[in-house]
Amino acid sequence: MEQGHVSPLVGPDARPESEVFRTVCGICSGTCGIRFTIEDGVLHSVEGDDNHPVSNGHLCPKGQALTEVVTARDRLKHPMRKTAYGWERVSWNQAFYLLTQNLRLIKQNYGPEALAVHVGHAGVGKEFPGYAERFCNLYGTPNFSTCGSHCFESKAMANVITYGAMPIADYENSRCIVLWGKNPASSTPSLVEQIVKARENGCALVVIDPRETPLAKKADLHLQIRPGTDGALALGMLHVILNHGLYNNEFVREWTTGFEKLFDCVAPYTPKAVEGITWIPAAKIRQAAHLYGSSKPACISQGVALELNTNGFQALRAVAILQAVTGNLDVPGGAIFLDDPRLSDLRLTNPDSKREAIGAKEYPLFHASSGHAQANLYARAILEGKPYPLRGLLVAGSNP
Ligand code: SF4
Repeated sequence: MEQGHVSPLVGPDARPESEVFRTVCGICSGTCGIRFTIEDGVLHSVEGDDNHPVSNGHLCPKGQALTEVVTARDRLKHPMRKTAYGWERVSWNQAFYLLTQNLRLIKQNYGPEALAVHVGHAGVGKEFPGYAERFCNLYGTPNFSTCGSHCFESKAMANVITYGAMPIADYENSRCIVLWGKNPASSTPSLVEQIVKARENGCALVVIDPRETPLAKKADLHLQIRPGTDGALALGMLHVILNHGLYNNEFVREWTTGFEKLFDCVAPYTPKAVEGITWIPAAKIRQAAHLYGSSKPACISQGVALELNTNGFQALRAVAILQAVTGNLDVPGGAIFLDDPRLSDLRLTNPDSKREAIGAKEYPLFHASSGHAQANLYARAILEGKPYPLRGLLVAGSNP
């Protein structure tokens, strides 16, 4: 029997027969389609759903291991409380009582900002972070944070600040795909199918990655970059593109400001100089710039590896400029902008917070753009009381 909705995995309602259910994997924002089989009320197996319109039956290793996630011996199945003698099981009523008591005490004794709420990757693309943020607004703490403190947010900021929105790469219609710090064979297998299709239609492939990934082996060009030097490579490619007239005149004239100054910015980043920084041979840098600059349209897939460096924001700004001046913005096969259907913003418009969020001073652009606290500074607040002490941390869907 096959059904299109999710039923209880185990419990009194489970029937002693084999049933297949269709749903999506919730581990990351990819939401790949899955089919899972229940036998005698127990999760038996998980496989990719061939009929899912986007993932087409593909699952990454995490999705393939979903059965193990559900049946893992140390999986948390009920509330636990830490005591002097170890962890002990408590009822949900006890758990809620303890939680509300402690939240009340923290607020009374130290002020609401002494509580921080952190939501991890499990919340990406889902709605529960919105409720968590609304809870912070009501409680009175400005310290709501997400995994964006150390990933993705720098990429979103760089793209939004450069041209107003965060695009995605349109692989299928592209003539040249640049996978920059991204390995979809491991992280998003459904994208590999799109890349393979584009390749069959004659699309070139450039992989920028220190590792020889499966796609790097098949690429036209593999730039084995020294980690953390992506910004220099982007400036080096811009140097070649600008000095060889490979930019899109019409786009530059209609849509850019300060383009002339870009020549000065990239002047020091000759391929030879960039070779010294990135350890990529100058000839390959020239080749990549010509391939990307002369293929119409071309797209760059901005991977997680770019944003996880301390200079990630500036590197991604340079990549964003690269996409723009070559006229690959908002065109099929280039960097395209999609509508992001979402529920209403759940944040209160006038939250009652007396103090600034942790990190607002140190990272004003990050704070202004996301409205969030910077979770990487929580440890300092807990251990040193700076800028003020944190006395409670609620963590959802994360393992900080
Ligand atoms: S990419 Fe992997 S973890 Fe993410 S939704 Fe798909 S199967 Fe799940």
